[in-house]
Amino acid sequence: MEFKKSQELYNKGLVNLVGAVNSPVRAFASVGGNPLFIKKAKGSKITDVDNNSYIDLVLSYGPMILGHRHKKVEKAIRKALKKGYSFGASTKGEIKLAKIVCDAFLGMDKVRFVNSGTEAVLSGIRLARAYTGKDKIIKFAGCYHGHQDALLVAAGSGLATLSLPGSKGVPEGAVKNTLIANYNDLESVKAHFEAHDDIAGVILEPVAGNMGVVTPQDGFLKELKEYVNSKGALLIIDEVMTGFRSKFGGAQELFDVEADITCLGKVIGGGFPVGAYGASNEIMETVAPLGGMYQAGTLSGNPIAMAAGISTLTELKKQNPYEKFNEIAQIIEVFLLESAKKHGVEITVNRFGSMINPFFTDVTVTNFKEAQTSDTKKYATFFWEMTKNGVFLPPSQFEAWFLSSALTENDIQKIANAIDKSMEAVS
Ligand code: PLP
Repeated sequence: MEFKKSQELYNKGLVNLVGAVNSPVRAFASVGGNPLFIKKAKGSKITDVDNNSYIDLVLSYGPMILGHRHKKVEKAIRKALKKGYSFGASTKGEIKLAKIVCDAFLGMDKVRFVNSGTEAVLSGIRLARAYTGKDKIIKFAGCYHGHQDALLVAAGSGLATLSLPGSKGVPEGAVKNTLIANYNDLESVKAHFEAHDDIAGVILEPVAGNMGVVTPQDGFLKELKEYVNSKGALLIIDEVMTGFRSKFGGAQELFDVEADITCLGKVIGGGFPVGAYGASNEIMETVAPLGGMYQAGTLSGNPIAMAAGISTLTELKKQNPYEKFNEIAQIIEVFLLESAKKHGVEITVNRFGSMINPFFTDVTVTNFKEAQTSDTKKYATFFWEMTKNGVFLPPSQFEAWFLSSALTENDIQKIANAIDKSMEAVS
């Protein structure tokens, strides 16, 4: 397999783009080698500029849940394009997408659309502070909530990939109200509440996908919600990754827990830049123009993005692929475990719905510290062998592999074969 044209574009890209990328994980920093440049994608496959075709388990880090260029989504986008791209005024599409989203999440009466998951979370945090009149926020080590200053501490995703404890350029003052707890450890949350009486809220990924996949232990989310509310604080569930991905009503539907504030992104834009935050009427009345919490956006509720979101969610509801996702993830888990055993490689596989990934460790992974025991050099070897065998994986141990409903039986067999060859290379 040749990567000549990707290599050429990478060298050209270095001139005017930082690291030739527009988001750090795309730089392949932790797996070595140069990033792939993509030419096109369709269904379950993605093709690079050297015409290598891969089964795509990155899916743009989650949004492309129906696979690439689903025909109904594409039709809706083309139709919307003919009417204009952006108006700076309200459209019917915003109301339609808002209803689909609010109907899916039990505790959500109103939603506000923004342009990214980062914006959704930073607005959600501001809302929790505005509503409670308190300042401090608890986040969990290894959870990633976008690149806003206040939450770039002990974060997963790109920071974990690059082994950064936080980001340069974030002033001390911006993180002085951020407290860190351990995932799946309610006691670590309680300790903060015992020490501080000005905690506005606790934010978490209900299933963490930014330290690799880490699932909440039995009862953790429900007990957390009960405890946080008993202290007069809000539970902010960041479903940017899990919303509509693990179940139509997100992880909240699966775990039967209701957020006070929900943050969304990725799937709700069908591949276009959309984020959202939503809550009950009472909480959302804090937001301008009804209340005094300001948040705005020139392109928020963009009509093309709304059309992509509406058509994606409508098709997703119709397909209801969630049971099938579980089955495929289970099959991949078995392939991984059997192949690892055959080649004498220690792995732990975590999965949840359409999110899965192997850690190269013999430790059970329930939090960030345990995730960090994974041998990232082994992941790098595994990653490149999978690439050479036609499967596109996230170039980082600390990201989830995603499944799309476009995957075929043939794709799954190819993934199995690639896993076996790659595990042999790791051994
Ligand atoms: N929250 C979670 C859970 C995410 O996974 C991400 C991105 O990966 C974000 C927030 C930030 O979203 P965006 O990259 O769209 O700003």
